[in-house]
Amino acid sequence: MVARLEREFAEMIGVRHVIAVNNGTTALIAALQAFDLQPGDEVVTSPFTFVATLNAILQAGATARFADITVDDFNVSAELIEERINERTKVLMPVHLYGQTAAMSEISTIANEHGLGIVEDAAQAHGASLDGKHAGTWGVGCFSLYATKNLTSGEGGLITTDDDDIADRLRLLRNQGMRARYQYEMAGNNYRMTDLQAAVCIPQLSTYDANVAARQHNADHLGEAFADLDWLTTPAQLPGRRHVWHQYTVLLDDDAPITRDELAAHLERQGVGSGAYYPRIVSDYDCYRNDDRVRPDPVPVAESVASRCLSLPVHPGVDEPQLDTITAAVRSAV
Ligand SMILES: *Cc1c(COP(=O)(O)O)cnc(C)c1O
Repeated sequence: MVARLEREFAEMIGVRHVIAVNNGTTALIAALQAFDLQPGDEVVTSPFTFVATLNAILQAGATARFADITVDDFNVSAELIEERINERTKVLMPVHLYGQTAAMSEISTIANEHGLGIVEDAAQAHGASLDGKHAGTWGVGCFSLYATKNLTSGEGGLITTDDDDIADRLRLLRNQGMRARYQYEMAGNNYRMTDLQAAVCIPQLSTYDANVAARQHNADHLGEAFADLDWLTTPAQLPGRRHVWHQYTVLLDDDAPITRDELAAHLERQGVGSGAYYPRIVSDYDCYRNDDRVRPDPVPVAESVASRCLSLPVHPGVDEPQLDTITAAVRSAV
């Protein structure tokens, strides 16, 4: 079942190798370990992400640097990621947030020019693409199959790469560094996915395009319904990109008549769930404050977005009456 999931996902996104692991966080850790990072080596990533992105960098023994995001796709800016590169930089680690790829043409050109690795945090971006090229095919792609993601095995992860040597390292790292029974080649771990998990995910692949189409339909509906609200910015699918709408995230403008938290509380009273993904930049917690492997790089756009973002229901289970309920609830907040 694991081998079959790996084969079918490889076909779906067009990549040579897929290595299934036990969750998305270990996918990120293993991907970084494949680059053999040493203490002091730097990984540049987005400050506007789930905490696993940062924790994986620390687990792999590296130092995390942050480049600010662009507000139109919520992803790390290619221009600013280049500014963070120095002689200690080893890996660029864009996050394809909410189901839309980062500016990967530019980022992969920059990585090539500077001889850097790319680890894509594609935990939210199964099937997302840019000019027909899929998330997870520019570098080493890391997908999550957690229960809330677009594809799920309960807990699970998938690592993707076109590089035969990296694929070989990842398969060893996944299983105690073992080539054949009791033949160890490196210090590895147990990152294995079970057949039970793989069996849960496999049937979802054949209906995945319909799942994304339903998400796209819901996103279009909400975008049209909010088009005249001058205090709210709705999310855009940028030219050339296939957004898979893991989240539908609106931004309250700086001069909006209510705050994000007031809107969320209003929606809750109307029976509409929402979530702030993410309420703070990833490094803005006491547990990272005195860790000198977490650099306090200035990221004003990400800080502003974190205080103004709110994600509304967009998943395929949302039906037309519910879309109307969500619309009316948002409109009645002001
Ligand atoms: C979910 C997620 C992860 C971690 O995946 P798990 O399977 O929960 O370990 C990492 N990065 C991002 C952006 C995520 O959304």
